[in-house]
Amino acid sequence: MRILLTNDDGIQAEGLLALKRAVESLGEVFVVAPDRPRSASGHSITLHKPLRLHKTKLADGSTAYSTNGTPADCVTLGRGVVMEEKCDLVISGINPDANLGWDTSYSGTVSAAAEAAVLGVRAFAISVASIHEAPVIANFETAGEVARNLIIQFGQHEIPKNVLLNVNVPNVAFNDIKGIQITRQGSRQYTDRLITRTDPWGHPYYWLGGSLLPERALDGTDVYAVQSGYVSITPIHLDLTAYVLLDAMRDWVAKE
Ligand code: MN
Repeated sequence: MRILLTNDDGIQAEGLLALKRAVESLGEVFVVAPDRPRSASGHSITLHKPLRLHKTKLADGSTAYSTNGTPADCVTLGRGVVMEEKCDLVISGINPDANLGWDTSYSGTVSAAAEAAVLGVRAFAISVASIHEAPVIANFETAGEVARNLIIQFGQHEIPKNVLLNVNVPNVAFNDIKGIQITRQGSRQYTDRLITRTDPWGHPYYWLGGSLLPERALDGTDVYAVQSGYVSITPIHLDLTAYVLLDAMRDWVAKE
């Protein structure tokens, strides 16, 4: 099995190396990742400037490639150039923070897996649900073990085209994980998302950030599963159609 690893945190990110260590005995592993952090870059691709691939080495001495492109570009270049279109699986991660609920749309980690789905390659994104409070220590070993098990477990099952898996792992030791839940996408809301400040010359500037609003997650969602100590796996379709509205909206159009 030929496996492409990528991420949105950059080629030297700790989570990428942890992922490689965890899965490299299961196949032939190729690593192509952005040359700098690209978190929250979503599913953007680079159209208006040339893309470059640079051969480099990871901290374990193994060969990898960095690009000046986005996470989605890494999948295109990794599969198309480095792997000469022979790619069986794409894994994106391990992201050191959760990708749950609506975060999924912003996530470069998840979007790299989505790009693989566009190309017809099976893929999953994997993140550790560490909480951004100092000191943050993301338990990459646990997520690595989960990734490894997923490859073995899901290897025998068909995943429809245009579907990717979004995997989120609680930030605990592997033996403390309660199990796996197959979930739907939940929601997460942030407070103080837009912060306005003043620069030394008296001009306003703006910073996007904010902290997570504590809320009761609904049973069956990705947020609930991770909060409850389970690995969450959400199958995500590239089709974003709101099917629930199709019939109603056809009626609106018909009456006019
Ligand atoms: Mn990231």
